[in-house]
Amino acid sequence: MAEIVKVDRDRIQNEFFQLTAFDAESFHERKIAEYVKEKLRSLGLTVEEDDARERIAKEHPESNETASNIYAYLKGTKQGEPILFASHLDTVKPGNGKKAILHEDGTITSDGTTVLGADDISGLVSILEALTVIQEKHLEHPDLEILISVSEEPYCEGTRFVQYERLKAKEGYVLDLDGPVGRAANAAPSILSTKIEIEGKAAHAGFAPELGINALSIAADALANIRTGRVYNDLTVNFGTIQGGSGRNIVPEHVEIHGEIRGLEHEKALCEGELIKEVFEKAARKYGGTIKFSVTEHIHSYHVSEEKNVVKRFQKVAQEVIRCSKPECITTYGGSDANRLNEHGIETIVLACAMEKCHTTQEYTTLYELEKSAQLTLGLMID
Ligand SMILES: [Zn+2]
Repeated sequence: MAEIVKVDRDRIQNEFFQLTAFDAESFHERKIAEYVKEKLRSLGLTVEEDDARERIAKEHPESNETASNIYAYLKGTKQGEPILFASHLDTVKPGNGKKAILHEDGTITSDGTTVLGADDISGLVSILEALTVIQEKHLEHPDLEILISVSEEPYCEGTRFVQYERLKAKEGYVLDLDGPVGRAANAAPSILSTKIEIEGKAAHAGFAPELGINALSIAADALANIRTGRVYNDLTVNFGTIQGGSGRNIVPEHVEIHGEIRGLEHEKALCEGELIKEVFEKAARKYGGTIKFSVTEHIHSYHVSEEKNVVKRFQKVAQEVIRCSKPECITTYGGSDANRLNEHGIETIVLACAMEKCHTTQEYTTLYELEKSAQLTLGLMID
């Protein structure tokens, strides 16, 4: 077997610290985007953007710091189909003022007041390091396409605006998964959000309660008759927030409930939404109120068979390059940009890339895993 060209641990560490220093909560990625575009250009890639910035700004006028999705291309030096690699620029909250701290054992954490941003800077660093090594050592590779998205955290908002004609690849890897490097997700759910507005009728709670229609009672009646949690082994239901009522002594007129459905089968998830709607309608009729029910489809489920080339390549490279004896394919219940890419005909799996306890202030990564992730990415790019 040919000798494995190594990535550079110090460079990975420096880049990780550099990137985590940017404030880049969703819809505020402008500065980090400028840095990354410059970096990709300096590595010899052709860099383009779409109009996501303008389109997101229209829908989220509160933010004037949004950026566009970045596309970068490196012309191949050998035959082979183009391959896509993707990661995202944004972090969840609290993500401003991040300070990465390197501990003696090689773990990197935040100072405990913010997330670390390893989700998804670990993925970004892996891609940048792999490209750096390719250019530095003149390694042969097929056409490489890089997609760095914005606003991924809020249900993959940014990749709604991807211009797919800019991408030729039919296979891709999204670096955006927790767990040990050498793991990949080849299936993920559709995610639908539900909004239920219940209309009752206000009345004085003491003088004339019989004139009122209690919207909260309708909500309670319905919720008591809907299964939540892991409803089936491939479908979850949750109601996350409830708001309503205007005073202790007023029969509540209006209640609003927000929830979500995640299902590995898209149609089944939609059906579950219909069932939930019927239960609310029935409860509303019982009390004489009405409901307005709406479902928003955020992302579409996918399942990439383990027989597909994109999975086989991952398994082979993980075994050969990072000595992972059993590269693992899992089903995730989280969405990622891979949902959108699969929906648009690019067979994509999600790679674990050195991020743990994501979306919490305890988020961490390790130099060891970061190095492994970059090594795996390099292996996939030059395979
Ligand atoms: Zn992520």
